[in-house]
Amino acid sequence: MSYSFIDGHNDTILRVEDTTELLKGNEHTHIDLPRAKKSMMKAGFFAMFSPSPEGMPPFEECKTDNGYEFPLPDPLPIESSQPTTHRLFSRLIKAERESDGGVKLIRSVEDLEDCLHTDQFGAIAHIEGAESIDAELNALDVYYEAGLRSLGIVWSRQNLFGTGVPYHFPSSPDIGEGLTDLGKALVKKCNELGIMLDLSHLNEKGFWDVAKYSSAPLVATHSNVHSLCPISRNLTDQQIDAIGNSNGVVGITYVVNMLREDGGIDADIPLTSITKHIHYVIDRIGIDHVVLGSDFDGATIPEAMKDITGVPLLLEQLRQEGLSEEDISKITYRNWIRVLQSTWK
Ligand SMILES: [Zn+2]
Repeated sequence: MSYSFIDGHNDTILRVEDTTELLKGNEHTHIDLPRAKKSMMKAGFFAMFSPSPEGMPPFEECKTDNGYEFPLPDPLPIESSQPTTHRLFSRLIKAERESDGGVKLIRSVEDLEDCLHTDQFGAIAHIEGAESIDAELNALDVYYEAGLRSLGIVWSRQNLFGTGVPYHFPSSPDIGEGLTDLGKALVKKCNELGIMLDLSHLNEKGFWDVAKYSSAPLVATHSNVHSLCPISRNLTDQQIDAIGNSNGVVGITYVVNMLREDGGIDADIPLTSITKHIHYVIDRIGIDHVVLGSDFDGATIPEAMKDITGVPLLLEQLRQEGLSEEDISKITYRNWIRVLQSTWK
């Protein structure tokens, strides 16, 4: 049995050298079009992310007695971020243009449903960290018209709008201040335009601000369960409950150090290390509130997953663990359709 699915987060567009690698395939990314088709991936959120020029310090330098504490990179000025965002957005647009109808930049739920029922592959444009958006939010109008439908207010960094959560283990996500006034204005404008807000990478105070000011269902596209892996990037039970109460979704991610109880980076872990987090969210807030949010091409993932072609194995594992066909269809696409119907205009 194989299942069509929508994936909530990948960094593939940053990792491919050009559109050919995405459309024709390559040996080094987790996702490309041939492997997506083979795996029944029908659509995904493609992150446009501007890396910090200084990179991350080596793991050894961030070790603590019982875990690690990576610092937040410096804020990234708009002059550094915009060229990257535009290069990556252009790459997505070109992928659609060069694909002979094989790739569609998704602008509506109808577009997404078309991809589920045809051979067309859907790319949902997502900006991870709003550094490319100016204080007057003019860039947001331009990006929306270009096809932007999802925005992470912050990556694990501070910007005009809010503060991201650094990677600390073990640690609460409650590190730093909440949204700025500009951040609240950004939430309002995203609600008005119909741009989904992604809570992954946001610190806890910022999370509660979005919960307070946003009128849309709450979505964390690539975050796991803090009770099972107490890294600062994961969601506490209270946050998971709030997402459920808003009729939103938690996107379970395959990032190794967000899965493992010990927060470690050894990728030799089974698929059950992922399904455990899925079951936890189902048991706590119900099957209507969990989706997949891989972080392919953005992180180290379990060897048992390998790349996009491992997702059918994960879904088969869920079936063996007792999930029905209907349950799996909710996790793979029906929950996304519901959330996006009430979020996009
Ligand atoms: Zn991310």
